[in-house]
Amino acid sequence: MDQALSYASGPTDSPLLTETIGANFARTVAAGPDRAALVDRAAGTAYTYRELAEAVDAFALGLLARGIRPGDRVGIWSPNRTEWVLTQFATARIGAVLVTVNPAYRTHELEYVLRQSGIRLLVSAPVFKTSDYRAMVGEVRDACPALEQVVFLDGPDWDGVVAAGRALDPARLAEVAATLHPDDPINIQYTSGTTGFPKGATLTHRNILNNGWFVAELQGWTHEDRVCLPVPFYHCFGMVMGNLGAVAHGSCMVVPAPAFEAAATLKAVEAERCTVLYGVPTMFIGMLADPGFASYDLSTLRTGVMAGAPCPVEVMKRVISDMGMTDVTICYGMTETSPVSTQTRVDDSLEQRVSTVGAVHPHVEIKVVAPDTGEVLPRGEAGELCTRGYSVMKGYWDEPEKTAEAVDPDGWMHTGDLAVMDADGYVGIVGRIKDMVIRGGENIYPREIEEFLYTHPDIVDAQVVGVPDAKYGEELMAWVKVRPGAEAPTAESVRAFCTGRLAHYKIPRYVHAVEDFPMTVTGKIRKVEMRERSIELLGL
Ligand code: AMP
Repeated sequence: MDQALSYASGPTDSPLLTETIGANFARTVAAGPDRAALVDRAAGTAYTYRELAEAVDAFALGLLARGIRPGDRVGIWSPNRTEWVLTQFATARIGAVLVTVNPAYRTHELEYVLRQSGIRLLVSAPVFKTSDYRAMVGEVRDACPALEQVVFLDGPDWDGVVAAGRALDPARLAEVAATLHPDDPINIQYTSGTTGFPKGATLTHRNILNNGWFVAELQGWTHEDRVCLPVPFYHCFGMVMGNLGAVAHGSCMVVPAPAFEAAATLKAVEAERCTVLYGVPTMFIGMLADPGFASYDLSTLRTGVMAGAPCPVEVMKRVISDMGMTDVTICYGMTETSPVSTQTRVDDSLEQRVSTVGAVHPHVEIKVVAPDTGEVLPRGEAGELCTRGYSVMKGYWDEPEKTAEAVDPDGWMHTGDLAVMDADGYVGIVGRIKDMVIRGGENIYPREIEEFLYTHPDIVDAQVVGVPDAKYGEELMAWVKVRPGAEAPTAESVRAFCTGRLAHYKIPRYVHAVEDFPMTVTGKIRKVEMRERSIELLGL
């Protein structure tokens, strides 16, 4: 294709991996059984690859003994911890499809995910901070007929599964592994949809194993690297770019805490002598602003990834200069593309490394098109970014129509992101075509919250927009129309209404009662105008 057009295809000199995740895991274990594999700082435990493989296989056999078969859905709803990693690789060993559930989800979302994907066995945290997972599972269980077994990560459940597995011949694992194929689905990740509820992006071994592998390759990882992972495992950033990338390279995963805490992450880097650090921009902002920042020895850090939301140039510069992450990269992608499509390279110019999302990934094609015509645009013009290649998901679980809206017949995933490709093929993300808010790295689709707010007894209509926020990048503001005769609800009362039923990050910070929303003549809500007026009202 014409160099002057916004199209690029990635290098293909290094081949794609053609094995299953289980086979790749076994290869790493055989290559270095005594190498460090996993450190869980909260639990105070450390595993070598031999020990990790023993624990993974014990749980995998237990799942088989409990009747879980290739293709069955096994859910995990838990903050980051050792058993998360064990469940990830145990399910991969036996070809069960791991459904990764955001630990911030509450009953409304949990029930939907359990039912939509037909989870047979759920691994779940017990109580974490103020979240009582056991009680919430109890609340939705009757509504989820496919859910046969729940393994809570306190008490005897886990050991019970492992004990059941002891009755089986360990050779069963190899027999099952021989029936698996790299193009089988192995993971469903729910990603918020514009149509109200999250959709389950269904990913294969080939999709995610290769993406994890190449993200780490482009940072030059080896088995000597120690990777600090404060990013959530339920998301591709943690489980693919982190855990899979680390296992494929024989590197060590370091889990600083069950959920992100700036001080715990900095402490983990120092104590575990980490060479790699991952984070969304909000996490890096939090670490740089930590009162104790200067007191930590971060001298072992070399590289890492910042991704998931626009990465401010000044923050990138400080990560390089003040955290010593000289080789840090920016990645851009989305769950539906496993996730990464572009990445900056270690030898790029400083300008490219701090102000673009990099160039196209190996074995991937990208193009920027006019959203209305689909024509590939000249370089330098903004349009919708599309991605094609091994990394594009198999589809949304059980939603062929929504899959067809996202992936066109030629295999191009339409990302909904507005991008510009420069003369060198480097990409800048300049906005979102889709109506999405990113708060602290979490993607929020206002439609879902609007639909939920309709269930409030005094609210007859609601529109939600993102407004700028220094800490989280964006915060939510809900505009509500109040039922005639009712008093306008306060922001506190609306938040109280949402608490426990919506994930905390989806709860609007600001609430504004209005008579009418700004509309176009064709009846479409003018969200851009609402956002501008919100900024004025809040004095931002
Ligand atoms: P998710 O499916 O949760 O991974 O979210 C994907 C979306 O996050 C993309 O469609 C982008 O809107 C946004 N995103 C991811 N990485 C970046 C980045 N480096 N810069 C700007 N936006 C990003």
